[in-house]
Amino acid sequence: VYILAIETSCDETSAAIVENGRIIRSNVVSSQIETHKRFGGVVPEVASRQHVETVTWIIEESIRQAGLTLGDLSAVAVTQGPGLVGSLLVGMIAAKSLAFMQGLPLIGVHHIAGHIYANQLVHELEYPLVSLVISGGHTEIVYVESPGSFRIIGQTRDDAAGEAYDKVGRALGLPYPGGPHIDRLALESAAAISMPRAWLEPDSYDFSFSGLKSAVLAVINQARMKGQTLEASHVARGFQESVIEVVAAKALRAAEEYGAKQLLLAGGVAANRGLRNRLGELCLERGLPLLVPPLSLCTDNAAMIGAAAFLKWERGQYSSMEMKADPQLKLESWSV
Ligand code: ATP
Ligand code: MG
Ligand code: FE
Repeated sequence: VYILAIETSCDETSAAIVENGRIIRSNVVSSQIETHKRFGGVVPEVASRQHVETVTWIIEESIRQAGLTLGDLSAVAVTQGPGLVGSLLVGMIAAKSLAFMQGLPLIGVHHIAGHIYANQLVHELEYPLVSLVISGGHTEIVYVESPGSFRIIGQTRDDAAGEAYDKVGRALGLPYPGGPHIDRLALESAAAISMPRAWLEPDSYDFSFSGLKSAVLAVINQARMKGQTLEASHVARGFQESVIEVVAAKALRAAEEYGAKQLLLAGGVAANRGLRNRLGELCLERGLPLLVPPLSLCTDNAAMIGAAAFLKWERGQYSSMEMKADPQLKLESWSV
């Protein structure tokens, strides 16, 4: 089964061909980071226009790199949401056109289900499992009892972790996106400026990052007003330690309480080396298998969409040609 998948939810235009939900035949990603850098963040109208310019070529390239032809495809999958509506629409129209033209089933995919199932491209999954989803727009703990059944047991009440990374990066004068730069500075730094931890209620799996972000901004502003120089790396390390300590502790507690056979890391911030290292240590101590995607499958890509689409394919749960891009699509409602 060859599924051609298209992902255009934010600022990556990507197409991939995934065999049986597990084998990557091709995964072509065109990032718009260079375009958005000068604005310090993603500009929706610019993103949408660039998707239009790139998507056709990316799809052709994914088929060529897979060494296949259109006639070999079994289905067309596309990110239905969540994401930027103008960006989602471009992928949606491309997918519908291709499915219609070739007479193929169409499968709408939840972007976060994609991030989680990126793990299936490199690992054998065992259920029940718990996934820590940590990305630019989401930070949540998801309980997956069986393939494709999603239950969110905790989520951020304000900013997503990636959003906090990027805002702190901006305040430190780092290039967009700040996440990878903060990660590098934090690992290099010999010292850390201590930052608060948002544990919330003792039994809660929810997160909050806006207080931490404000604390970091306050430290930066105070130093500026007093004319003191501040080591960006000390700030980066203090911030990163606070994020990691809280998300790692909550993810482990959830895995324990829900009897997870595996803990899966997913989303763009799963590329964070500090987080991967720390979770690796904690899981080793507990004898809990930790599954992490390779860096290229952590940030947005279409192969992960092809992996998740296979859940629906196996059950014959196709989408109709009336499917609409849904910026607010709920993960639980997408469960198989
Ligand atoms: P969502 O998946 O929630 O819709 P998104 O698709 O925009 O959001 P992703 O592409 O999954 O987000 O992830 C991008 C985020 O990952 C950015 O905020 C970026 O700073 C962050 N990121 C990437 N690498 C790292 C890293 N090494 N450390 C921390 N953050 C990182
Ligand atoms: Mg992105
Ligand atoms: Fe994403």
